[in-house]
Amino acid sequence: MPYTRRYQFKHVNISKLTHIYMNRPKIPIEIVIEITGRCRQVCPYCTGPRIPDVPLADIKDTMDEAASLGVKAVRITGGEPLLHPHLRAILSYAKQKKFYVILNTTAENISPSMLKTLTTNVDAALISLQGYNAETNAAYTRSKLPFLDKIGNIFALKAYLPTLWLATVITPTFGRTFTKFLPLVQKIAPANWALFRAVSDTKEAKQMDLTFYRSLTLNIMKARKANINVTIGNAIPMCITGNLETGKHAFIGAHFDDGHVRIVRRAQGYFQPSYFLETNLGTTIKTAWNNPFLDELNRTDFLPELCQRCPVLETCRGGCRAMSLRAYGTALTQDPLFDQANAIKALSLPFPKHSSHEPFTIKC
Ligand code: SF4
Ligand code: SF4
Repeated sequence: MPYTRRYQFKHVNISKLTHIYMNRPKIPIEIVIEITGRCRQVCPYCTGPRIPDVPLADIKDTMDEAASLGVKAVRITGGEPLLHPHLRAILSYAKQKKFYVILNTTAENISPSMLKTLTTNVDAALISLQGYNAETNAAYTRSKLPFLDKIGNIFALKAYLPTLWLATVITPTFGRTFTKFLPLVQKIAPANWALFRAVSDTKEAKQMDLTFYRSLTLNIMKARKANINVTIGNAIPMCITGNLETGKHAFIGAHFDDGHVRIVRRAQGYFQPSYFLETNLGTTIKTAWNNPFLDELNRTDFLPELCQRCPVLETCRGGCRAMSLRAYGTALTQDPLFDQANAIKALSLPFPKHSSHEPFTIKC
């Protein structure tokens, strides 16, 4: 056991330690594969370098290794994966290997033959939605393609795919216009509308402070009462409203972030823990998954004492390691949105059990 300091904390119930230190699975549950750096859009929070398409042989090699290890799901992403000239071959190879195939896309410019390819090979699509009309969509994405065509493509995919999720990167503007998205999202009726906290240290991202996220969470809860399945889909301290019951419904937690259960193969040809943690873990899944940095990220013993006795620690993991890195220069410290007063209030209320969610995340 390399991290014996785990056991030095006061107030920690030793019998719960295996629960507190989430066991990483022996193999990733999903491999995220960036197949191109090209994209038609220019989103302000994009993490992708504009690099060319990844060769088909490299993508197949990654899928071969994933299949040989027993990985169940692959997520095809970019850039915009629909721009890859071999997308059909990539998706059909993934299906041939019996993966659960997830596609992250903007759903722009889908021809009838492309629609057929997608509906034949994709199990779940995660589609970015950054505007509630043409003007707001173009303001964020700089897309020159018709918004109504994109919405038509979303409805077409919704009609044929087993699962469709929508995804929106949270910005200050989005926070102010949240309710304007609701009629469109209600019409599309995705399995989930995932909102993604912008992982960034820009001036704009810093405006999205605790007050901003508390207010957004209250709007999320109102939308959920109107039967819209909307959640914040990446890591955030689940106690920010002072109520873990609210956190349980409004937030997915950190499970799918920071290399806990999946890793990303960048278009540059190496693996990293997530889109936002850029440590090069190596060039094979096996090497990457065994990289000691993933064990470091999986630790929780550096979190505040309140987290150590929190009933949702396993799901929340104290929030986002990538944001800790940006705010404090180290991933192994508390999330900048962690607030002691809210945590004390939340932990004083009855313990809620947290339900699990389907895996999803987004770059697009
Ligand atoms: S106390 Fe810590 S682990 Fe619990 S919800 Fe808050 S940040 Fe997460
Ligand atoms: S975030 Fe996605 S859709 Fe936006 S520019 Fe980057 S790759 Fe393209």
